Amino acid sequence: MSILKLLYFPNKKLRNIAKSIKNINNDVKLLGNNMLKIMYSYNGIGLAATQIGINKRIIVIDITKKKNNPIILINPKIIKFNKLKINSKEGCLSIPIKQKYFVLRFNEIRVQAKNLMNEIIEIKASNLLSFCIQHEIDHLNGILFIDYLSNLKYQRIYDKINKINHKIMFLKKQNHIK
Ligand code: ZN
Repeated sequence: MSILKLLYFPNKKLRNIAKSIKNINNDVKLLGNNMLKIMYSYNGIGLAATQIGINKRIIVIDITKKKNNPIILINPKIIKFNKLKINSKEGCLSIPIKQKYFVLRFNEIRVQAKNLMNEIIEIKASNLLSFCIQHEIDHLNGILFIDYLSNLKYQRIYDKINKINHKIMFLKKQNHIK
């Protein structure tokens, strides 16, 4: 558990394309539950395995943050979508800046996946849940929400994160932390 760490942009592993999960065994169940713990600890509403450096198609979501009905989706696939796209205001645990940005997402989708019980499930999602599922499936395909922004905005975010990283490096040097 403690070795699972959140990766931050521009870590190259965030660009990996995750592989399908063939057997939903105890390791996968443990991974799903650990992902939920990590997501809640960062106060997030969604997390993809890619974000913790694990190259498997599994995402966890809880848009209420209430912990009583989280969703764990294995090999999720959008099988139907309403063509209407609307603006979704997004942030990402792997892109630790305060500002949120608008990206266009399908408003309504139907998703097929497997759950931890190895059952095929279908979810009809709209609004925030729909946006969140699309955002997390994008992670499994190595796509970040900032990829949808203009080059200028992307560069600004890159620079901001670089500054944060430099600050951390500087503090580490000062404190002789390796
Ligand atoms: Zn994200």
